[in-house]
Amino acid sequence: MSVVEIKDKKFVPYITESRINTAVTEIAEKINTELKDKFPLFLVVLNGSFIFAADLLRKVNIPCHLSFIKVASYHGVSSSGSVTELIGLTEDVKGRVVVIVEDIVDTGTTLEKLYHVLEQKEVKELKIATLLLKPEAYQKEMKVDYAGIEIPNDFVVGYGLDYDGLGRNLKEIYVLAK
Ligand code: 5GP
Repeated sequence: MSVVEIKDKKFVPYITESRINTAVTEIAEKINTELKDKFPLFLVVLNGSFIFAADLLRKVNIPCHLSFIKVASYHGVSSSGSVTELIGLTEDVKGRVVVIVEDIVDTGTTLEKLYHVLEQKEVKELKIATLLLKPEAYQKEMKVDYAGIEIPNDFVVGYGLDYDGLGRNLKEIYVLAK
């Protein structure tokens, strides 16, 4: 791994392919044990989670469904000021055990919106799986059930995560150079 330049910024090596692989395996093993008879539905939040989800789901060996979604927010039309819509959710989630698959949880704002929308659809149980978690930035109450690697409050790219649309295809994770 060496320094990569993306647009105006330099990123330095941070998490190796092998460390990522270990974290993904650990999450999969926990899921295989804990959700064994629960026939979970994995909801993969695009775009950033696509690589993590592809690796994770190949290590999950229990019967499950999988779907890809996007979260869109609209402002100004409701009393709360913002409406969250899930794009691409075609499955009936009522009564299902749903696992939200995220690439990274930072403040938790995105996750919270998603969580509320799914709660209203009467899911039976909601679980959260994320490859990366920034505990210092996280401001919400929701339990993150499966967190692969905890990182400080720094900006990272690679393994699905982008900087201005670029860098998603990097095999390892890089951090913005200080
Ligand atoms: P949150 O709503 O938890 O604050 O942020 C969630 C979203 O912000 C993530 O799904 C991701 O798209 C983006 N994000 C947060 N931290 C990072 C980071 O370090 N790198 C990149 N590339 N995106 C991030």
